[in-house]
Amino acid sequence: MAQYVIALDQGTTSSRAVLIDKKGQMIDVAQREFPQIYPSPGWVEHNPQDILLSQIGSLSELVGRNNLKAADIAAIGIDNQRETTLVWDRTTGEPIANAIVWQCRRTARLVDELCGDPQIAQTIQEKTGLLPDAYFSASKIKWLLDNVDGARDRAEAGELIFGTVDTWLIWVLTGGAVHATDVTNASRTMLFNIHEGAWDPWLLDLFTVPASMMPEVRPSSGSFGETHYLGIPQGIPIMGVAGDQQAALFGQCCFEAGQAKNTYGTGCFLLLHTGAEACHSKNNLVTTIAASAPGTGHLEYALEGSVFMAGATIQWLRDEVGLLTNAADSEAMALAETDTGGVYLVPAHTGLGAPYWEPDARGTLVGLTRGTNRNHIVRAALEAMAYQISDLVKAMEADSGAPLTQLNVDGGASRNNFLMQFQSDVLGCELHRPQNPETTALGAAYLAGLAAGFWEDTNALKALRSNDDVFTPKMSRVRAAELLDGWADAVRRTIM
Ligand code: ADP
Repeated sequence: MAQYVIALDQGTTSSRAVLIDKKGQMIDVAQREFPQIYPSPGWVEHNPQDILLSQIGSLSELVGRNNLKAADIAAIGIDNQRETTLVWDRTTGEPIANAIVWQCRRTARLVDELCGDPQIAQTIQEKTGLLPDAYFSASKIKWLLDNVDGARDRAEAGELIFGTVDTWLIWVLTGGAVHATDVTNASRTMLFNIHEGAWDPWLLDLFTVPASMMPEVRPSSGSFGETHYLGIPQGIPIMGVAGDQQAALFGQCCFEAGQAKNTYGTGCFLLLHTGAEACHSKNNLVTTIAASAPGTGHLEYALEGSVFMAGATIQWLRDEVGLLTNAADSEAMALAETDTGGVYLVPAHTGLGAPYWEPDARGTLVGLTRGTNRNHIVRAALEAMAYQISDLVKAMEADSGAPLTQLNVDGGASRNNFLMQFQSDVLGCELHRPQNPETTALGAAYLAGLAAGFWEDTNALKALRSNDDVFTPKMSRVRAAELLDGWADAVRRTIM
């Protein structure tokens, strides 16, 4: 009897293999970092072989260290950095160029040219749920076909295929047998019609991408073939696939409409499950496909919003300003004062995202007095994370028409108890922080384990979760409203 599921967690800076048992406990993790390639300002690439070798390396390490055989492993689940784009030869498996990473801005002008017409932008949003941007795969594929020697001819002759990182890993791990992606990753390409659940001919045409390059799109929980790769146990089924944020939503057991999670990392990613309804945002949020349990029978959706500077604000105060030596010290510093003394830090260092969408805004510090000290400023940086999430939650409530009653949290900065309490206070709702913070890997494992029958259903998954840290609002609503007014005022001054 198989005792484990393995999650392959393929991130932007490292690849990890995580061994998870039936109780949902993390038994072991192997991790390998790989190089970031910056060929010119604003460009970011990964070598496809680096992604592969770091991922396979961490998998073999995990298998070797725990003496695992194929029979010990019920299934493999994959979660991955989203949008990153690869094109390779269908016969030889040779990539035609480095992967263009989601962060890469090389196609920003191309997107402006192709999608600048408001009518086109609106059609794209209606079909894909996305606001046209260079992040998404569509313009990256076009760039590769137009800029790599001979690529377009080869693509039109049917020799080249496209994939996001999940597709690349599945293709290699199955020995080239399966060219497929899952619905969540497909929904980040800007080529997928999220209502019809199919590649969209009009979008493929707009970005001049031959349909023959596109992978087959499958549900997130179900079969993606089995391992057939030298050096790792053969015949392990790959049964779960999701983009990292959707995997985290699933790993947080947000299976139903109205449930939400926020990840507090370098940036923040807030996702609200909206069930079978693809909620169209009027507030600059994107609509994306959520991962579903097997047998759901229809597509499920989520609203997604992100904050650019979250934990990064603490990093900046530590590394550039020198106000603290350790991110974790921010908690004690914030608690050394009862408030910020009227100081607000609006971390618009790289512009303001949803719901404001002001790419040219820059950071501001307002309300300084002779009494302002470093603790006030550090506290203002932590509070700013909570205010930005509060802004996103308000936008989501307006778009979805339902109030948020509970927020599930994870990510490095969610360890900060001051921040969590303050977040609960300004939102006026409960925060739940699970004991196992590895919600992304857990989500991939859950999707694979459900399809493999390792876990019976989503109720069995919910039952695995216990002893959450729970934060409940303690601040008066009047005080919270005053603070939020002050924040709104500071944001106004930032945008002006
Ligand atoms: P990512 O996955 O985006 O690299 P992590 O989830 O590992 O990020 O979180 C790291 C970020 O969280 C860093 O930006 C760091 O400044 C911030 N951070 C980590 N611990 C704390 C803490 N205790 N309080 C506030 N911020 C923290």
